[in-house]
Amino acid sequence: MNTTKVFDLIGIGIGPFNLGLAALCDDISQLKCIFIDSKPSFDWHPGMMIPGTRMQVPFYADLVTPVNPRSRYSFLNYLCENNRMYRFGINEQLFITRKEYNGYCQWVCSLLKNLHFNEICTLIEPSGENYKITTNKTFYYAKHIVIGIGDIPYIPKITNLEEHENVIHSSDYLFYRKRLLSQPSVTIIGSGQSAAEIFYDLLHQRDRFKKGLNWFTRAERFYPMEYSKLTLEMSTPEYIDFFFSLNKEKRDELFPKHSVLYKGINSNLINEIYNLLYEQWIEENSSPIHIEANCELTDIKKHGRNCTCNFYHRLLGQSIEHNTHAIVLATGFHSTFPDFLTPMRSQLQLNANDTYNAKRNYSIDAYDSIFIQNAEQDTHGFNAADLSLGPYRNTIILNTISKKAYFKTKRKIIFQKFGII
Ligand SMILES: Cc1cc2nc3c(=O)[nH]c(=O)nc-3n(C[C@H](O)[C@H](O)[C@H](O)COP(=O)(O)OP(=O)(O)OC[C@H]3O[C@@H](n4cnc5c(N)ncnc54)[C@H](O)[C@@H]3O)c2cc1C
Repeated sequence: MNTTKVFDLIGIGIGPFNLGLAALCDDISQLKCIFIDSKPSFDWHPGMMIPGTRMQVPFYADLVTPVNPRSRYSFLNYLCENNRMYRFGINEQLFITRKEYNGYCQWVCSLLKNLHFNEICTLIEPSGENYKITTNKTFYYAKHIVIGIGDIPYIPKITNLEEHENVIHSSDYLFYRKRLLSQPSVTIIGSGQSAAEIFYDLLHQRDRFKKGLNWFTRAERFYPMEYSKLTLEMSTPEYIDFFFSLNKEKRDELFPKHSVLYKGINSNLINEIYNLLYEQWIEENSSPIHIEANCELTDIKKHGRNCTCNFYHRLLGQSIEHNTHAIVLATGFHSTFPDFLTPMRSQLQLNANDTYNAKRNYSIDAYDSIFIQNAEQDTHGFNAADLSLGPYRNTIILNTISKKAYFKTKRKIIFQKFGII
């Protein structure tokens, strides 16, 4: 075996979570690792980089600071190295723009030497004591693998995007924004942060939509994401411990109740939307607006260049027909079992629906050699996608792999108690 191709750790995917892992690994010289990503370079949600949109985690919840504030890959070091510190300080913003976060991550990428972009993982299979990782370019062997491939856009089963040139997913919003702005009407489906950001962005151009700017959700209201302090204590390792300790039935019962903790809209944005609607009302802007909750999309039919949406009103039990020229599906994301893991299937701890039955240390096999990032909702709860907990999860993974406490995981960090201990 060509030993230059054998690594202690290979990360599949370079989103913020595996990038944070790469940054932490850089301080552990004994660990030989590489990270691969199919994209040509790091670019975080480019279709949703709407100017002015901000992070939902504070700047210090960067790739490394929560566990290693001395790391050269911290956000503050990024500011310092790029002569941005003073203006950042005067600007007094805890929540930086998404653009600035993306720039920071790209700067971290420029410093790390073991990131391979333009490389797609096509197969992972057992190979003696290691795993063989095949890509579109070459192959490698690894003792440990960390899968951080993120989620894919969720498209309701009723729609076939290829048949509707004016039906898009929110993740592509900016690529189609110009086309949307040239339509007489646009309809946004969903009531998460992305849906609200897109509605707000288009609302600024309301005059263009002579036939209407519309916003529907199946949720019972356009609710804010809860951000009160004692609830924020649930976005901590201690709450993950608690959630993990529950039996599967309890976890499955609890999980849907947590949607207001991560799915809603930033309350400031709800207020800004309302304020803009009010301002436009005072100015007698007459382009129609339609905002309605409880409406579940059941069908989209194409008529020439227009579409008819069918909604089922969940409270009235009635169907509603709605004509529009373009649709933005802000219907979220979901994780899927990747094809490249198929040869590994029998070795992995999977649930009946192909989700992962992860261990507390985020491994999904008996030997603690394959780990997942941001796909452990079933076992670890709603925090899986929370960027502020990425460094913590990476610490657990790294300490497990290296069998040493390279980075400390602290306990007793919150005021309240979960469970009885
Ligand atoms: C618009 C938007 C804003 C968000 N803002 C926040 C926020 O402010 N705070 C917060 O806590 N969370 C936020 N989230 C949620 C979440 O944390 C992010 O989506 C985050 O990007 C998830 O990181 P990741 O590393 O899991 O995956 P991703 O960022 O999706 O990265 C996965 C990478 O894996 C690569 N990949 C996939 N398959 C392969 C393969 N076979 N081979 C090689 N590479 C592959 C992809 O190219 C991709 O680059 C946001 C989500 C969205 C959609």
